Amino acid sequence: MDPMILEDQFHRYLCPTSARPIGLQVDHARGSYIYTKDKRKYLDFISGISVASIGHTHPAVVKAICQQAERYLHVMVYGEYIQEPQVNLAAKLCSLLPDSLSSVYFTNSGTEAVEGALKLSKKFTGRKRLIGFENSYHGDSHGSLSVTGRDIYRKPFYPLLPNVSFLPFNVTKSLMKIDQTVAAVITEPIQGEGGMIIPSKLFLQALRARCQKVGALLILDEAQTGLGRTGKRFAFEHFKIVPDILVLAKSLGGGMPLGAFIGSPAVMKRLSTNPPLSHVTTFGGHPVSCAAGLASLNIVLKKNLVQRAKKMGDTLRNALIGLAHQYPVIREARGFGLMIGLEFYDPEPCMQFVQKAREHGLLLGWTLHTNRVVRIAPPFTLSSQELKEGLAIMRRVLGSL
Ligand code: PMP
Repeated sequence: MDPMILEDQFHRYLCPTSARPIGLQVDHARGSYIYTKDKRKYLDFISGISVASIGHTHPAVVKAICQQAERYLHVMVYGEYIQEPQVNLAAKLCSLLPDSLSSVYFTNSGTEAVEGALKLSKKFTGRKRLIGFENSYHGDSHGSLSVTGRDIYRKPFYPLLPNVSFLPFNVTKSLMKIDQTVAAVITEPIQGEGGMIIPSKLFLQALRARCQKVGALLILDEAQTGLGRTGKRFAFEHFKIVPDILVLAKSLGGGMPLGAFIGSPAVMKRLSTNPPLSHVTTFGGHPVSCAAGLASLNIVLKKNLVQRAKKMGDTLRNALIGLAHQYPVIREARGFGLMIGLEFYDPEPCMQFVQKAREHGLLLGWTLHTNRVVRIAPPFTLSSQELKEGLAIMRRVLGSL
């Protein structure tokens, strides 16, 4: 289709989510690059927001998708028939997790996994209260939005879930407010949309201990941080804690839609009784998504990409810390592995930086809750050459601000 007509029809037929969408006309994507219809190529330092961990359109993932598509697509709602791709992916995930996290419920997305985890917590504990953290993000359906810690996104949709309270993130003394009435506390180990906010190990350990003490379930939402992005398989390993329920999404499907919440069999089985079928999904754990997810995870493991995310992340972060010293508009570069935030003092240069980098062929992202932090989350497969190319563009742009 003619690019002008395509753009026109995009604006005419697709519901807008922002006033000025980025509007790249994607032709194809490979590895660390997205190629557009106007024959430009963009180095992707956001990976479709932490999805394309092994790069775009990896041949192993494409092959797995094609093979599974030829065998069968959707055959039955989740949980009834035995579908090999689901079993294989669940078994692989559990082999990487602590023993207590050994029962997997697959969903279509992150928000749906959070919904399942919240419902399960209420059913398992028989309690009504939920606690989230200020500045958090857990998704955009009613339940997950109810525990997302940002008023401007919640208020237009009131009434949301009742009995939800928020605590300040990384403030250990406030954890005493978690008591025996609480079904679950949900948190990201590192707040992504909040602007790559890294809590102290002490805080997360105190949270773990407090939940244990009062019998509340701890839900860790690793939609962004999970599966290697932070330089460990799961971000909770940095903090030496184990959640009661783990939420995964984003890169889990290797570029296909897939989420999961994972807990102990004792907790998870509560969805199957009294009444049975208390949480069902038609497409959750779609066989093609699971096949793609397993192919992607196998590449991550076989090629030691978690270690690579750490190594490349350290190199990139150190270079960005250097830029922060050189350019006074930057306040700080922080992160774990390839989940990095570059914080500016002011929103205007931050926005210009992202915009101009794009004009120079480098895709950087914003984060939802702050207009001063640039998200940097390239694929783990990023080559040294690509890393240098990205940094060179950033330097050029910073010099021109
Ligand atoms: N939790 C976290 C921590 C997320 O970052 C996101 C997506 N940004 C979600 C949940 C929601 O995932 P999805 O968009 O797949 O519903």
